[in-house]
Amino acid sequence: MGHPSINDRIEHSRPVAPWGAEQIESQRRVRYAVVLLVAVCLSLTAIVIWEAWNSRQYHLHDKEVAMSNLAQTLTSQAQSSIKQADTLLFALVDRVENEGVASAQLPRFRRLLAAQRSELTQLHGLFVFDEKGGWIANSNGADIPGANNSDREYFIYHREHTDRGPHIGPSIKSRSTREWIMTVSRRINHPDGSFAGVALATIYLDHFLALYDSIDMGQNGVINLIADDGSIVVRRPFNEADVGTSVAKGPLFMQLLPKGNSGTATVKSYVDGVERVVGFRRVDGYPLIVFAGLDKRDVLAGWREESILSAGIVLLLLVFLGGLGYRLIRFMKQQNHFQSVLLDAREKLIEVNRSLELLALEDALTGLSNRRQFDLFILAEMGRARRTVTHLAMLMIDVDHFKSFNDRYGHVAGDDCLRKISAIIKDNIKRPGDLAARYGGEEFTVVLPGTDYVGAFLVAEKIRRGVQQAGIVHSECPEGMVTVSVGVCAYNPASQDQPDDLVTAADKALYVAKASGRNMSVIAN
Ligand code: GH3
Ligand code: MG
Ligand code: MG
Repeated sequence: MGHPSINDRIEHSRPVAPWGAEQIESQRRVRYAVVLLVAVCLSLTAIVIWEAWNSRQYHLHDKEVAMSNLAQTLTSQAQSSIKQADTLLFALVDRVENEGVASAQLPRFRRLLAAQRSELTQLHGLFVFDEKGGWIANSNGADIPGANNSDREYFIYHREHTDRGPHIGPSIKSRSTREWIMTVSRRINHPDGSFAGVALATIYLDHFLALYDSIDMGQNGVINLIADDGSIVVRRPFNEADVGTSVAKGPLFMQLLPKGNSGTATVKSYVDGVERVVGFRRVDGYPLIVFAGLDKRDVLAGWREESILSAGIVLLLLVFLGGLGYRLIRFMKQQNHFQSVLLDAREKLIEVNRSLELLALEDALTGLSNRRQFDLFILAEMGRARRTVTHLAMLMIDVDHFKSFNDRYGHVAGDDCLRKISAIIKDNIKRPGDLAARYGGEEFTVVLPGTDYVGAFLVAEKIRRGVQQAGIVHSECPEGMVTVSVGVCAYNPASQDQPDDLVTAADKALYVAKASGRNMSVIAN
Protein backbone atom coordinates (compact mmCIF):
# COMPACT_ATOMS: atom_id res chain seq x y z
CA MET A 1 0.00 0.00 0.00
CA GLY A 2 1.48 3.33 -1.01
CA HIS A 3 0.56 6.97 -0.91
CA PRO A 4 1.65 9.85 -3.13
CA SER A 5 4.91 11.20 -1.75
CA ILE A 6 6.18 14.74 -2.10
CA ASN A 7 8.71 13.60 -4.64
CA ASP A 8 5.98 11.92 -6.70
CA ARG A 9 4.09 15.15 -6.89
CA ILE A 10 7.22 17.03 -7.91
CA GLU A 11 7.97 14.50 -10.65
CA HIS A 12 4.56 15.20 -12.22
CA SER A 13 5.37 18.85 -12.67
CA ARG A 14 8.60 18.12 -14.58
CA PRO A 15 8.73 18.88 -18.36
CA VAL A 16 7.73 15.90 -20.52
CA ALA A 17 10.72 16.16 -22.93
CA PRO A 18 14.03 16.57 -21.22
CA TRP A 19 15.82 19.88 -21.63
CA GLY A 20 18.57 18.45 -23.92
CA ALA A 21 16.08 16.91 -26.37
CA GLU A 22 14.36 20.25 -26.94
CA GLN A 23 17.71 21.94 -27.43
CA ILE A 24 18.82 19.29 -29.96
CA GLU A 25 15.49 19.59 -31.80
CA SER A 26 15.91 23.38 -32.04
CA GLN A 27 19.45 23.04 -33.35
CA ARG A 28 18.21 20.49 -35.88
CA ARG A 29 15.57 22.97 -37.05
CA VAL A 30 18.28 25.61 -37.56
CA ARG A 31 20.36 23.08 -39.50
CA TYR A 32 17.37 22.21 -41.69
CA ALA A 33 16.79 25.90 -42.35
CA VAL A 34 20.45 26.37 -43.37
CA VAL A 35 20.33 23.29 -45.63
CA LEU A 36 17.05 24.47 -47.16
CA LEU A 37 18.44 27.93 -47.79
CA VAL A 38 21.62 26.59 -49.38
CA ALA A 39 19.57 24.12 -51.47
CA VAL A 40 17.26 26.89 -52.72
CA CYS A 41 20.24 29.13 -53.62
CA LEU A 42 22.09 26.30 -55.36
CA SER A 43 18.94 25.23 -57.25
CA LEU A 44 18.34 28.79 -58.41
CA THR A 45 21.94 29.07 -59.59
CA ALA A 46 21.74 25.68 -61.32
CA ILE A 47 18.48 26.66 -63.04
CA VAL A 48 19.97 29.93 -64.29
CA ILE A 49 23.11 28.20 -65.58
CA TRP A 50 20.99 25.50 -67.24
CA GLU A 51 18.72 28.13 -68.81
CA ALA A 52 21.70 30.16 -70.02
CA TRP A 53 23.31 27.05 -71.52
CA ASN A 54 20.08 26.08 -73.29
CA SER A 55 19.56 29.60 -74.55
CA ARG A 56 23.17 29.65 -75.86
CA GLN A 57 22.60 26.39 -77.72
CA TYR A 58 19.32 27.74 -79.07
CA HIS A 59 20.99 30.96 -80.29
CA LEU A 60 23.76 28.99 -82.04
CA HIS A 61 21.33 26.50 -83.55
CA ASP A 62 19.01 29.26 -84.67
CA LYS A 63 21.84 31.03 -86.51
CA GLU A 64 23.10 27.75 -87.99
CA VAL A 65 19.66 27.23 -89.48
CA ALA A 66 19.63 30.83 -90.75
CA MET A 67 23.09 30.34 -92.33
CA SER A 68 21.97 27.08 -93.89
CA ASN A 69 18.93 28.80 -95.41
CA LEU A 70 21.06 31.70 -96.59
CA ALA A 71 23.56 29.33 -98.21
CA GLN A 72 20.64 27.61 -99.96
CA THR A 73 19.26 30.89 -101.28
CA LEU A 74 22.66 32.18 -102.41
CA THR A 75 23.37 28.85 -104.07
CA SER A 76 20.22 29.21 -106.13
CA GLN A 77 21.15 32.78 -107.05
CA ALA A 78 24.68 31.80 -108.07
CA GLN A 79 23.45 28.80 -109.96
CA SER A 80 20.84 30.72 -111.96
CA SER A 81 23.24 33.65 -112.67
CA ILE A 82 25.92 31.30 -113.99
CA LYS A 83 23.43 29.06 -115.75
CA GLN A 84 22.11 31.99 -117.78
CA ALA A 85 25.63 32.89 -118.94
CA ASP A 86 26.55 29.27 -119.49
CA THR A 87 23.48 28.67 -121.61
CA LEU A 88 24.66 31.46 -123.94
CA LEU A 89 28.14 29.89 -123.99
CA PHE A 90 26.69 26.53 -124.91
CA ALA A 91 24.83 28.00 -127.86
CA LEU A 92 27.92 29.99 -128.84
CA VAL A 93 30.17 26.92 -128.87
CA ASP A 94 27.58 25.01 -130.89
CA ARG A 95 27.37 27.77 -133.47
CA VAL A 96 31.16 28.27 -133.81
CA GLU A 97 31.76 24.55 -134.12
CA ASN A 98 28.99 23.95 -136.66
CA GLU A 99 28.93 27.15 -138.66
CA GLY A 100 32.40 28.61 -138.09
CA VAL A 101 33.10 32.31 -137.94
CA ALA A 102 34.10 33.52 -141.37
CA SER A 103 35.44 37.07 -141.60
CA ALA A 104 32.34 38.17 -143.44
CA GLN A 105 30.08 37.04 -140.63
CA LEU A 106 32.15 38.63 -137.90
CA PRO A 107 30.34 41.99 -137.64
CA ARG A 108 26.98 40.24 -137.39
CA PHE A 109 28.43 37.77 -134.88
CA ARG A 110 29.76 40.63 -132.74
CA ARG A 111 26.39 42.36 -132.81
CA LEU A 112 24.77 39.13 -131.71
CA LEU A 113 27.19 38.82 -128.79
CA ALA A 114 26.58 42.45 -127.76
CA ALA A 115 22.83 41.91 -127.94
CA GLN A 116 23.01 38.76 -125.84
CA ARG A 117 25.23 40.45 -123.28
CA SER A 118 22.88 43.37 -122.87
CA GLU A 119 20.06 40.93 -122.04
CA LEU A 120 21.80 39.81 -118.84
CA THR A 121 22.76 42.49 -116.33
CA GLN A 122 25.26 40.26 -114.53
CA LEU A 123 27.15 39.66 -117.74
CA HIS A 124 30.35 41.66 -118.20
CA GLY A 125 31.13 40.19 -121.58
CA LEU A 126 31.11 37.31 -124.04
CA PHE A 127 34.36 36.38 -125.78
CA VAL A 128 35.52 33.88 -128.37
CA PHE A 129 39.22 33.05 -128.67
CA ASP A 130 40.95 30.97 -131.32
CA GLU A 131 43.23 28.07 -130.60
CA LYS A 132 46.18 30.48 -130.16
CA GLY A 133 44.40 32.73 -127.70
CA GLY A 134 43.74 35.46 -130.22
CA TRP A 135 40.46 37.39 -129.96
CA ILE A 136 37.91 36.30 -132.61
CA ALA A 137 34.95 38.24 -131.33
CA ASN A 138 33.62 39.84 -128.14
CA SER A 139 30.47 41.53 -127.00
CA ASN A 140 32.20 44.69 -125.81
CA GLY A 141 32.86 46.41 -129.11
CA ALA A 142 36.37 47.21 -130.21
CA ASP A 143 38.93 44.46 -130.22
CA ILE A 144 42.21 45.19 -128.57
CA PRO A 145 44.74 44.87 -131.37
CA GLY A 146 47.20 42.04 -130.89
CA ALA A 147 45.59 41.00 -127.62
CA ASN A 148 46.20 37.44 -126.67
CA ASN A 149 44.61 35.53 -123.83
CA SER A 150 46.52 32.28 -124.14
CA ASP A 151 48.11 32.97 -120.78
CA ARG A 152 44.79 33.01 -118.97
CA GLU A 153 44.00 30.09 -116.67
CA TYR A 154 40.74 29.20 -118.46
CA PHE A 155 42.51 29.12 -121.83
CA ILE A 156 45.26 26.81 -120.57
CA TYR A 157 42.67 24.65 -118.80
CA HIS A 158 40.57 24.05 -121.92
CA ARG A 159 43.59 23.57 -124.13
CA GLU A 160 44.72 20.80 -121.82
CA HIS A 161 41.38 19.25 -120.90
CA THR A 162 39.08 17.71 -123.45
CA ASP A 163 35.94 17.73 -121.34
CA ARG A 164 33.08 19.83 -122.69
CA GLY A 165 31.53 21.03 -119.48
CA PRO A 166 31.66 24.57 -118.17
CA HIS A 167 34.81 25.66 -116.38
CA ILE A 168 34.94 28.31 -113.70
CA GLY A 169 38.37 29.81 -113.27
CA PRO A 170 39.84 32.12 -110.70
CA SER A 171 38.35 35.59 -110.62
CA ILE A 172 40.37 38.12 -112.56
CA LYS A 173 40.57 41.77 -113.32
CA SER A 174 39.31 42.41 -116.83
CA ARG A 175 41.97 43.46 -119.33
CA SER A 176 39.41 45.43 -121.22
CA THR A 177 37.50 47.18 -118.38
CA ARG A 178 39.71 46.71 -115.27
CA GLU A 179 36.74 45.38 -113.39
CA TRP A 180 36.72 42.26 -111.19
CA ILE A 181 35.05 39.45 -113.02
CA MET A 182 34.35 35.80 -112.76
CA THR A 183 35.01 33.60 -115.76
CA VAL A 184 32.81 30.82 -117.10
CA SER A 185 34.24 29.11 -120.12
CA ARG A 186 33.74 26.22 -122.50
CA ARG A 187 36.10 24.53 -124.93
CA ILE A 188 35.59 24.86 -128.71
CA ASN A 189 36.64 21.86 -130.76
CA HIS A 190 37.57 21.39 -134.38
CA PRO A 191 35.48 18.74 -136.13
CA ASP A 192 38.24 16.22 -135.40
CA GLY A 193 37.97 16.93 -131.66
CA SER A 194 41.20 18.92 -131.44
CA PHE A 195 41.32 22.20 -129.57
CA ALA A 196 39.88 25.08 -131.55
CA GLY A 197 39.60 27.80 -128.95
CA VAL A 198 37.57 28.96 -125.96
CA ALA A 199 34.18 30.61 -125.50
CA LEU A 200 34.19 32.78 -122.41
CA ALA A 201 31.47 34.53 -120.41
CA THR A 202 32.57 36.96 -117.73
CA ILE A 203 30.30 37.89 -114.87
CA TYR A 204 30.71 40.96 -112.71
CA LEU A 205 31.78 40.05 -109.20
CA ASP A 206 29.74 43.12 -108.26
CA HIS A 207 26.67 41.17 -109.31
CA PHE A 208 27.29 38.85 -106.37
CA LEU A 209 28.76 41.45 -104.05
CA ALA A 210 25.76 43.76 -104.45
CA LEU A 211 23.53 41.00 -103.16
CA TYR A 212 25.96 39.85 -100.46
CA ASP A 213 26.41 43.40 -99.19
CA SER A 214 22.65 43.88 -98.93
CA ILE A 215 22.44 41.05 -96.39
CA ASP A 216 22.96 42.01 -92.79
CA MET A 217 25.83 39.79 -91.67
CA GLY A 218 27.04 41.90 -88.77
CA GLN A 219 30.56 43.30 -88.49
CA ASN A 220 32.52 40.13 -89.05
CA GLY A 221 30.08 38.10 -91.12
CA VAL A 222 31.32 36.58 -94.37
CA ILE A 223 29.81 35.23 -97.57
CA ASN A 224 32.17 33.33 -99.81
CA LEU A 225 31.76 31.90 -103.24
CA ILE A 226 34.55 29.34 -103.48
CA ALA A 227 35.73 27.25 -106.38
CA ASP A 228 36.00 23.50 -106.06
CA ASP A 229 39.79 23.69 -105.82
CA GLY A 230 39.54 25.89 -102.73
CA SER A 231 40.28 29.27 -104.33
CA ILE A 232 38.07 32.17 -103.34
CA VAL A 233 35.97 33.46 -106.25
CA VAL A 234 34.34 36.28 -104.38
CA ARG A 235 34.23 37.18 -100.73
CA ARG A 236 32.21 39.59 -98.69
CA PRO A 237 33.64 41.82 -97.22
CA PHE A 238 35.46 42.40 -100.50
CA ASN A 239 39.22 42.66 -100.42
CA GLU A 240 41.19 42.31 -103.64
CA ALA A 241 43.93 40.38 -101.89
CA ASP A 242 41.47 37.63 -100.89
CA VAL A 243 40.45 36.85 -104.48
CA GLY A 244 42.10 33.65 -105.62
CA THR A 245 43.39 32.84 -102.12
CA SER A 246 43.17 29.15 -101.42
CA VAL A 247 41.20 27.91 -98.42
CA ALA A 248 41.74 24.27 -99.41
CA LYS A 249 43.48 23.67 -96.08
CA GLY A 250 40.71 25.36 -94.11
CA PRO A 251 38.01 23.61 -92.08
CA LEU A 252 35.47 23.81 -94.93
CA PHE A 253 37.52 21.54 -97.16
CA MET A 254 39.25 19.54 -94.46
CA GLN A 255 36.29 18.83 -92.14
CA LEU A 256 32.95 19.86 -93.53
CA LEU A 257 32.82 19.02 -97.25
CA PRO A 258 34.10 15.45 -96.75
CA LYS A 259 30.94 14.86 -94.69
CA GLY A 260 28.44 16.21 -97.20
CA ASN A 261 27.55 18.73 -99.87
CA SER A 262 25.78 20.99 -97.41
CA GLY A 263 25.68 21.55 -93.70
CA THR A 264 26.23 23.81 -90.74
CA ALA A 265 28.95 24.10 -88.11
CA THR A 266 30.85 26.42 -85.82
CA VAL A 267 34.41 26.74 -87.11
CA LYS A 268 37.44 28.99 -86.97
CA SER A 269 38.10 30.83 -90.22
CA TYR A 270 41.18 29.87 -92.19
CA VAL A 271 41.38 33.42 -93.60
CA ASP A 272 41.04 35.65 -90.53
CA GLY A 273 40.93 33.27 -87.56
CA VAL A 274 37.46 34.43 -86.47
CA GLU A 275 35.19 31.74 -85.05
CA ARG A 276 31.96 31.67 -87.00
CA VAL A 277 28.61 29.95 -87.13
CA VAL A 278 28.47 28.82 -90.74
CA GLY A 279 26.26 27.25 -93.37
CA PHE A 280 27.59 25.92 -96.70
CA ARG A 281 26.28 24.27 -99.84
CA ARG A 282 27.59 23.15 -103.22
CA VAL A 283 26.15 24.88 -106.29
CA ASP A 284 24.27 22.33 -108.40
CA GLY A 285 25.97 21.63 -111.72
CA TYR A 286 28.95 23.96 -111.12
CA PRO A 287 32.19 23.46 -109.23
CA LEU A 288 31.32 26.12 -106.66
CA ILE A 289 30.50 26.26 -103.00
CA VAL A 290 28.60 28.99 -101.19
CA PHE A 291 29.74 29.57 -97.61
CA ALA A 292 28.00 32.02 -95.24
CA GLY A 293 29.10 32.65 -91.68
CA LEU A 294 28.29 34.97 -88.77
CA ASP A 295 30.81 35.92 -86.12
CA LYS A 296 30.09 33.72 -83.11
CA ARG A 297 30.60 36.70 -80.82
CA ASP A 298 27.89 38.61 -82.74
CA VAL A 299 25.60 35.58 -82.61
CA LEU A 300 26.05 35.32 -78.87
CA ALA A 301 26.03 39.06 -78.15
CA GLY A 302 22.27 39.11 -77.58
CA TRP A 303 22.46 35.94 -75.58
CA ARG A 304 25.30 37.37 -73.48
CA GLU A 305 23.28 40.50 -72.68
CA GLU A 306 20.24 38.39 -71.81
CA SER A 307 22.32 36.09 -69.62
CA ILE A 308 24.06 38.94 -67.82
CA LEU A 309 20.68 40.52 -67.15
CA SER A 310 19.14 37.33 -65.82
CA ALA A 311 22.29 36.51 -63.84
CA GLY A 312 22.07 40.00 -62.33
CA ILE A 313 18.42 39.53 -61.42
CA VAL A 314 19.11 36.12 -59.92
CA LEU A 315 22.11 37.49 -58.05
CA LEU A 316 19.87 40.17 -56.55
CA LEU A 317 17.34 37.49 -55.68
CA LEU A 318 20.07 35.36 -54.12
CA VAL A 319 21.35 38.30 -52.10
CA PHE A 320 17.81 39.04 -50.98
CA LEU A 321 17.15 35.37 -50.17
CA GLY A 322 20.50 35.04 -48.44
CA GLY A 323 19.80 38.14 -46.36
CA LEU A 324 16.33 36.93 -45.50
CA GLY A 325 17.62 33.45 -44.68
CA TYR A 326 20.45 34.87 -42.60
CA ARG A 327 18.00 36.95 -40.59
CA LEU A 328 15.64 34.00 -40.24
CA ILE A 329 18.41 31.72 -39.03
CA ARG A 330 19.69 34.37 -36.66
CA PHE A 331 16.17 34.82 -35.38
CA MET A 332 15.82 31.03 -34.93
CA LYS A 333 19.15 30.92 -33.11
CA GLN A 334 18.05 33.77 -30.89
CA GLN A 335 14.79 31.99 -30.27
CA ASN A 336 16.73 28.84 -29.38
CA HIS A 337 18.85 30.87 -27.03
CA PHE A 338 15.78 32.40 -25.39
CA GLN A 339 14.20 28.97 -25.26
CA SER A 340 17.25 27.51 -23.54
CA VAL A 341 17.32 30.44 -21.12
CA LEU A 342 13.63 29.89 -20.42
CA LEU A 343 14.14 26.16 -19.99
CA ASP A 344 17.02 26.89 -17.66
CA ALA A 345 14.85 29.25 -15.69
CA ARG A 346 12.08 26.68 -15.61
CA GLU A 347 14.50 24.04 -14.32
CA LYS A 348 15.65 26.39 -11.61
CA LEU A 349 12.09 27.30 -10.74
CA ILE A 350 11.22 23.63 -10.43
CA GLU A 351 14.22 23.16 -8.14
CA VAL A 352 13.14 26.12 -6.03
CA ASN A 353 9.56 24.85 -5.98
CA ARG A 354 10.74 21.47 -4.91
CA SER A 355 12.77 22.97 -2.10
CA LEU A 356 9.85 25.16 -1.12
CA GLU A 357 7.52 22.23 -1.20
CA LEU A 358 9.92 20.24 0.92
CA LEU A 359 10.27 23.16 3.27
CA ALA A 360 6.52 23.47 3.47
CA LEU A 361 6.05 19.81 4.32
CA GLU A 362 9.23 19.04 6.25
CA ASP A 363 10.25 19.85 9.76
CA ALA A 364 13.43 21.89 9.64
CA LEU A 365 14.94 20.58 12.86
CA THR A 366 14.41 16.85 12.50
CA GLY A 367 13.84 16.30 8.77
CA LEU A 368 10.62 14.41 9.57
CA SER A 369 7.33 15.45 8.02
CA ASN A 370 5.86 18.49 9.69
CA ARG A 371 2.48 19.02 11.24
CA ARG A 372 1.01 20.27 7.97
CA GLN A 373 1.89 17.11 6.12
CA PHE A 374 0.72 15.02 9.02
CA ASP A 375 -2.69 16.72 8.86
CA LEU A 376 -2.97 16.10 5.09
CA PHE A 377 -1.69 12.56 5.41
CA ILE A 378 -3.90 11.41 8.28
CA LEU A 379 -6.97 12.82 6.53
CA ALA A 380 -6.12 11.00 3.29
CA GLU A 381 -5.23 7.73 5.02
CA MET A 382 -8.37 7.71 7.17
CA GLY A 383 -10.43 8.18 4.02
CA ARG A 384 -8.63 5.35 2.32
CA ALA A 385 -8.95 3.05 5.36
CA ARG A 386 -12.67 3.80 5.47
CA ARG A 387 -13.16 3.05 1.77
CA THR A 388 -11.05 -0.08 1.74
CA VAL A 389 -12.04 -1.13 5.30
CA THR A 390 -8.46 -1.60 6.34
CA HIS A 391 -6.58 -0.95 9.56
CA LEU A 392 -4.90 2.27 10.45
CA ALA A 393 -2.95 2.95 13.64
CA MET A 394 -1.31 6.01 15.13
CA LEU A 395 1.34 6.60 17.77
CA MET A 396 1.76 9.79 19.81
CA ILE A 397 5.27 9.94 21.25
CA ASP A 398 6.30 12.46 23.91
CA VAL A 399 9.77 12.87 25.41
CA ASP A 400 9.73 12.42 29.18
CA HIS A 401 10.88 15.26 31.41
CA PHE A 402 12.15 17.17 28.47
CA LYS A 403 11.67 20.55 30.07
CA SER A 404 14.18 19.62 32.73
CA PHE A 405 16.52 18.23 30.03
CA ASN A 406 16.51 21.65 28.42
CA ASP A 407 16.94 23.31 31.73
CA ARG A 408 19.82 21.06 32.66
CA TYR A 409 21.69 20.74 29.32
CA GLY A 410 20.52 23.74 27.33
CA HIS A 411 18.37 24.15 24.23
CA VAL A 412 21.13 23.22 21.78
CA ALA A 413 21.57 19.85 23.49
CA GLY A 414 17.74 19.62 23.59
CA ASP A 415 17.57 20.11 19.81
CA ASP A 416 20.28 17.51 19.31
CA CYS A 417 18.34 15.08 21.51
CA LEU A 418 15.20 15.68 19.44
CA ARG A 419 17.18 14.88 16.23
CA LYS A 420 18.48 11.63 17.74
CA ILE A 421 15.00 10.55 18.80
CA SER A 422 13.71 11.42 15.27
CA ALA A 423 16.38 9.18 13.74
CA ILE A 424 15.40 6.33 16.07
CA ILE A 425 11.70 6.76 15.11
CA LYS A 426 12.62 6.79 11.40
CA ASP A 427 14.73 3.64 11.84
CA ASN A 428 11.86 1.78 13.37
CA ILE A 429 9.20 2.36 10.73
CA LYS A 430 10.01 0.09 7.79
CA ARG A 431 7.01 0.28 5.47
CA PRO A 432 7.17 2.82 2.69
CA GLY A 433 3.55 3.85 3.38
CA ASP A 434 4.26 4.81 7.03
CA LEU A 435 4.69 8.42 8.03
CA ALA A 436 6.67 9.89 10.93
CA ALA A 437 6.05 13.54 11.76
CA ARG A 438 7.00 16.06 14.36
CA TYR A 439 3.66 16.96 15.87
CA GLY A 440 5.04 19.92 17.82
CA GLY A 441 7.65 20.66 20.52
CA GLU A 442 9.00 17.35 21.84
CA GLU A 443 6.01 15.39 20.55
CA PHE A 444 6.13 13.06 17.56
CA THR A 445 3.48 11.09 15.77
CA VAL A 446 3.67 8.01 13.60
CA VAL A 447 0.88 6.97 11.20
CA LEU A 448 0.87 3.28 10.30
CA PRO A 449 -1.59 2.48 7.48
CA GLY A 450 -2.67 -1.17 7.23
CA THR A 451 -1.58 -1.83 10.83
CA ASP A 452 -3.82 -2.79 13.75
CA TYR A 453 -3.24 -1.78 17.35
CA VAL A 454 -1.21 -4.92 18.11
CA GLY A 455 1.23 -4.17 15.31
CA ALA A 456 1.24 -0.51 16.28
CA PHE A 457 2.03 -1.38 19.91
CA LEU A 458 5.01 -3.45 18.76
CA VAL A 459 6.31 -0.48 16.73
CA ALA A 460 5.75 1.79 19.74
CA GLU A 461 7.70 -0.49 21.97
CA LYS A 462 10.53 -0.77 19.48
CA ILE A 463 10.80 3.01 19.39
CA ARG A 464 10.58 3.38 23.13
CA ARG A 465 13.27 0.74 23.68
CA GLY A 466 15.36 2.27 20.92
CA VAL A 467 15.35 5.63 22.69
CA GLN A 468 16.17 4.06 25.99
CA GLN A 469 18.99 2.03 24.47
CA ALA A 470 20.39 5.18 22.84
CA GLY A 471 21.40 6.08 26.39
CA ILE A 472 21.14 9.87 26.12
CA VAL A 473 22.13 10.94 29.60
CA HIS A 474 19.45 12.80 31.52
CA SER A 475 20.44 13.09 35.18
CA GLU A 476 17.12 14.69 36.14
CA CYS A 477 15.29 11.55 35.07
CA PRO A 478 14.68 8.56 37.37
CA GLU A 479 16.20 6.24 34.67
CA GLY A 480 19.22 8.58 34.30
CA MET A 481 18.68 8.76 30.58
CA VAL A 482 16.16 10.15 28.06
CA THR A 483 13.00 8.05 27.62
CA VAL A 484 9.75 8.46 25.75
CA SER A 485 6.14 7.61 26.48
CA VAL A 486 3.88 6.43 23.68
CA GLY A 487 0.10 6.52 23.26
CA VAL A 488 -1.13 3.97 20.73
CA CYS A 489 -4.54 4.06 19.08
CA ALA A 490 -6.14 2.23 16.15
CA TYR A 491 -8.82 3.54 13.80
CA ASN A 492 -12.09 1.72 13.39
CA PRO A 493 -13.08 2.02 9.70
CA ALA A 494 -16.73 1.48 10.62
CA SER A 495 -16.73 4.53 12.90
CA GLN A 496 -17.33 8.14 11.92
CA ASP A 497 -14.13 9.22 13.68
CA GLN A 498 -12.25 12.23 12.34
CA PRO A 499 -8.45 12.84 12.57
CA ASP A 500 -8.94 14.90 15.73
CA ASP A 501 -10.72 11.97 17.38
CA LEU A 502 -7.76 9.75 16.61
CA VAL A 503 -5.28 12.33 17.96
CA THR A 504 -7.37 12.76 21.09
CA ALA A 505 -7.49 9.02 21.63
CA ALA A 506 -3.71 8.73 21.21
CA ASP A 507 -3.24 11.72 23.51
CA LYS A 508 -5.38 10.06 26.18
CA ALA A 509 -3.36 6.88 25.98
CA LEU A 510 -0.18 8.97 26.21
CA TYR A 511 -1.57 10.70 29.29
CA VAL A 512 -2.18 7.33 30.85
CA ALA A 513 1.42 6.32 30.05
CA LYS A 514 2.70 9.52 31.67
CA ALA A 515 0.52 9.08 34.66
CA SER A 516 1.56 5.46 34.99
CA GLY A 517 5.25 6.32 35.39
CA ARG A 518 6.41 7.21 31.85
CA ASN A 519 8.81 5.24 29.59
CA MET A 520 6.03 2.97 28.43
CA SER A 521 3.55 2.41 25.61
CA VAL A 522 -0.19 2.40 26.31
CA ILE A 523 -2.95 1.38 23.95
CA ALA A 524 -6.08 3.54 23.92
CA ASN A 525 -9.19 1.72 24.94
P1 GH3 B 1 6.55 15.32 30.56
O1 GH3 B 1 7.40 14.19 30.92
O2 GH3 B 1 5.33 15.41 31.32
O3 GH3 B 1 6.26 15.33 29.09
O4 GH3 B 1 7.36 16.61 30.91
P2 GH3 B 1 8.02 17.61 29.96
O5 GH3 B 1 8.93 18.41 30.68
O6 GH3 B 1 8.62 16.80 28.80
O7 GH3 B 1 6.82 18.39 29.38
P3 GH3 B 1 6.62 19.87 29.18
O8 GH3 B 1 5.42 20.03 28.32
O9 GH3 B 1 6.45 20.51 30.52
O10 GH3 B 1 7.89 20.45 28.57
C1 GH3 B 1 8.20 20.31 27.18
C2 GH3 B 1 9.44 21.04 26.93
O11 GH3 B 1 9.97 20.75 25.67
C3 GH3 B 1 9.28 22.53 26.96
C4 GH3 B 1 10.20 23.06 25.95
O12 GH3 B 1 11.26 23.76 26.58
C5 GH3 B 1 10.77 21.83 25.33
N1 GH3 B 1 10.76 21.95 23.89
C6 GH3 B 1 9.71 21.99 23.07
N2 GH3 B 1 10.13 22.15 21.82
C7 GH3 B 1 11.49 22.20 21.82
C8 GH3 B 1 12.49 22.36 20.86
O13 GH3 B 1 12.27 22.48 19.69
N3 GH3 B 1 13.82 22.31 21.31
C9 GH3 B 1 14.14 22.17 22.59
N4 GH3 B 1 15.41 22.16 22.94
N5 GH3 B 1 13.21 22.06 23.50
C10 GH3 B 1 11.90 22.05 23.17
MG1 MG C 1 4.85 17.44 25.69
MG1 MG D 1 7.36 15.77 27.42
